[in-house]
Amino acid sequence: MPSLTRDEARQRAQLISVNRMEVDLDLDRGSENFGSTTRISFSCSTPGEATFLDVRSVSTESVTLNGAEIAPDTIVDGRLPLADLAADNTVEVVATMAFSRDGQGLHRSTDPADGEDYVYGHLFLDAAPTVFACFDQPDLKAPYAFTVRVPRDWVVLGNGRATQSSPGTWELSETLPLATYFVTVCAGPYVSVRDEHDGIPLGIHARRSLQRELEHHAPQMFEVTKQSFDHYHRTFDVRYPFGDYDQVFVPEFNAGAMENPGCVTFRDTMLYRGAVAREQILQRSNTIAHEMAHMWFGDLVTMRWWDDLWLNESFAEFMAYTATSRATEFTDSWVEFGISRKQWGYAAERAPSTHPVAGSPAPDARSALSNFDGISYAKGASVLRQLVTHVGEEAFNAGVTAYLRSHEHGNGELSEFLAAMEQTHGSPLDAWSAAWLETAGVDVIALDRDGTMTRTSPADHPADRPHSLDVAGFTDGNEVFRAALTLDEAEVAVDGVDPAAAVLLPNAADLTWAMVDLDEASLAALPSELARIQDPIARSVLWGAVLTGVFRGTVDPGVALDTFTAVWPHERNDALMTRVALAFTDRIVPQFVPSELVDAAKGRVAGAALMSFQGAEPGSDQALVAARVLAATTSDEDRLGAWVEGRSLPTGLEGDSDFRWVVVRTMARLGLADESFIAAVAAEDTTLSGHLAALGARAARPGAAEKEWAWSQITQNRQLSNYELNALATGFWSSGTLEDLRPYAARYVTDIPRLAQWVGADALDRVAALAFPAPVVESETVDLVREAIARPDVPAGVRRSMADELSKLEEALTSRARWS
Ligand SMILES: [Zn+2]
Repeated sequence: MPSLTRDEARQRAQLISVNRMEVDLDLDRGSENFGSTTRISFSCSTPGEATFLDVRSVSTESVTLNGAEIAPDTIVDGRLPLADLAADNTVEVVATMAFSRDGQGLHRSTDPADGEDYVYGHLFLDAAPTVFACFDQPDLKAPYAFTVRVPRDWVVLGNGRATQSSPGTWELSETLPLATYFVTVCAGPYVSVRDEHDGIPLGIHARRSLQRELEHHAPQMFEVTKQSFDHYHRTFDVRYPFGDYDQVFVPEFNAGAMENPGCVTFRDTMLYRGAVAREQILQRSNTIAHEMAHMWFGDLVTMRWWDDLWLNESFAEFMAYTATSRATEFTDSWVEFGISRKQWGYAAERAPSTHPVAGSPAPDARSALSNFDGISYAKGASVLRQLVTHVGEEAFNAGVTAYLRSHEHGNGELSEFLAAMEQTHGSPLDAWSAAWLETAGVDVIALDRDGTMTRTSPADHPADRPHSLDVAGFTDGNEVFRAALTLDEAEVAVDGVDPAAAVLLPNAADLTWAMVDLDEASLAALPSELARIQDPIARSVLWGAVLTGVFRGTVDPGVALDTFTAVWPHERNDALMTRVALAFTDRIVPQFVPSELVDAAKGRVAGAALMSFQGAEPGSDQALVAARVLAATTSDEDRLGAWVEGRSLPTGLEGDSDFRWVVVRTMARLGLADESFIAAVAAEDTTLSGHLAALGARAARPGAAEKEWAWSQITQNRQLSNYELNALATGFWSSGTLEDLRPYAARYVTDIPRLAQWVGADALDRVAALAFPAPVVESETVDLVREAIARPDVPAGVRRSMADELSKLEEALTSRARWS
C-alpha cells in the first residue's frame, strides 16, 4: 500500500478543505469486523478538478459523491478517486472494516482475566483509513461527530463527550477541528473514576479487571493532571480548548500514550498492580504531563507535515519535564531525563540514521514513523532548554503564546515558530537554528585540569553549536567550584577551575546536549567519589559519561563494571539506580563483555544488587529496585526457589505477581523452570500481564527445542498480538549459548521482514528491534544485517530498526577489539 507523499498532501490541501466529518461505527458485529459509514462535507477551490479519498476496508458496500454512485471497485491501493468536484461536496462511504491485533487502527482484544472484549482507536500515524474513509493528512482538519453502536453493557469514550441516546447507541458530541491521526473511539465495559478541575471535567478509565488498580492510582494521577493544567495555563496563556479531559488506560498499546484531544490513551501497564517505586510514578506523571502539553503543541496547533514532528514531540517532552519539575512533587524529574531520555537520544545521534531535530526528511507519511526517536524527543527538548537560556524565559514564553494564538486550530511549521520567537527575542535566530535544529550530530566536550574546555564536533556532522553550560569540581563529595560559560569555540579557557579537584565535571547541571569525556584522573576517582556527591543531576551526568564512554569505546567496560560494583550499591536515587542497572544488564554485560566472562559479570551485578538490597531500609524505593535487579540477575537457586514459593520475600513484595514473574523468568533462563512449572504459575495469574509474562518466560528457556518453539511462534503464528510478539522476542535472546543462538542471526534477517505481511509497521519496527540478535556480537552478524538492509523487500521501518541495532552491535565490536 503506497504511503501518502508530502507532495501529494500539499496538492490535496491546496485543492480541498474539509468542513465536517460524520462517522457511524457499528462495533456490534462480532470480533472480526465492524461497520463504518462516513459522510464528509468538503469544499474544492477549483471545481471540476479531481482528488482522492483514503479508504482501507475489508469490503466497501457503496460510495456516493454528491448523490451520484461511484463503483466501490475503483478503490485501488486504499485510494478512492473522486473526479469532477463541485465547489461544495458530500461524499458518503459505507464499508466493512477489520479490527486489528497490532495496536494500530481499531484494536480489539479479549481480557483473559474475565473474557471481556475491549476496543480502542489508535489512528496515528496513517491508520485512520482503516476505521473510516478520510483525507488522511495532518493539515486537513475538521470537526467530527460520531455515532457508535456497541453491545448494551459497553461504554463508549471519544474526543467529544459521549452520551447514550438509546441502549447500545452512543453519540459523541461534535468536536473542534481535529487532524485525522488523533481521532479516537474507545469502547468496552470500561470502568471510570471522575473528578473536575478549573471547570474541566476529568475522567480516568480502565478495563474492569483493573478497577482496583485504577481506584488506587487515580488520586495521584488526578493531582498531576490538575497541577499540569494550572502550569500550562500560566505558561501558555491560552486555555485548554477541547472540553472534557479523559485519560483511558488501554491494553496492548504500542507507544507510552497518545495525545488524542480530550481522550488520551495510555498503555495500561502503567496502572501498576504491585509494589511501585517512586521512579515509576515519576515516569507516569511525566507521560501525563507530556500528553497534556500536546493539547497545545500538536492538537491545537498541528505540524503541517511530518517533517516538523519536533514541533510536537520536542515541545511536549520539554514542557512535561518543566511542568513536573516545577508544578509537582517530582522536582528532580530532570535527573530521569538525563539518565533515561538523553541516553536514548545520544545513542540515536551515534547511529548512522541520525537526523536534524527539525526538517528531517519525511518524503512520505510512513517514513516519518522512524523519526519518533531519541532525536525528536530528547535532543529536541534539550535544544529547547538551550533556546530558553539563549533568548530568556520571558521572551520564550511570549513567543510560544504568540505562535499558539496565531495558528490555533490550524497548522504550523519551523519558519513560523522561529518568526514568533524572533519577534519576542528582538534579533535573528537563523544561525542558532541552523546549528541546533537543522544540523544533526552531538559534540563531545571535555574539561582539562588546566581549565581548558574543549568541544569536538563529529567529523561527519560538523557544526558550530554554542553551548550554554556550567562546569563543576568535587572532592570528598563536596562541590569545590562551579563556573558558568558559553562554549562557542573549539577551545575556551574557564576561570575558577580547581585543578586539584578529585572529579572535574563538564555540563554539571546537564543544561546542554553533548557527550562528556571525563579526564583520566576523574574517571579513576569515581569509585570512591561518585556516591558521595549530593547533587543527583551531577551524579546523573557522571553515570551518563561512564555509559556513553563504554558505548563510544573510550572507557574500558571492565573499569565501568568496577565503578558499578563500587558505586551502585550506594546510589539512592531510584531513577539512576534503575536506568544504570538496565544499561549494564541489557547492554554492557551481554554485548561488551566477552562471552566467556559474561557469567562472572552477571554475578558481579547480582553482588552489587545484593549489597544494595541488604543496606537499604526494608520497603524503601532503594530496596525495591535492588530486589528487582537481584531477582533478574542472581543465580542463587535457594533464593529464587524461596521467592517463587512466597517465602522470605522482601518487605512490600509479598503477593506481588510481577515480582514473582521476574523470579520465574530468571529461573527459566537458568533452566530451572520447565513448561509445567511456568503453566502452574500462570494458572495462579490469569491476567493479561500474567499471560504475557508466561510467554516471555517460555521464550527465555535455554534449550534448543524451546528456542525453536519460541522462534516459530514469533515468525509464523499470525494470531499473536503486538504485545505477545514483544514478550516472546524479549525472552528469546535472554538465554542460550552462543552456539545455539548463532543460527537465529541468519533466520532473523530472512524471517522478520516477512512479518510485514500481517503486522503493521508501528508494531513491527518494535519487534524487529527486540528480535535483533544483539548477543551474537560477531562480524558475521554485521555482514548478514548489512546485506538485509540493502534488500529492497525489507520494509523501511524494519530496515531502520536493523540499522540502529546494528550500530549498537558495532559499538560493542569496536570496544571488544580495543579492550579485551
Ligand atoms: Zn508525544
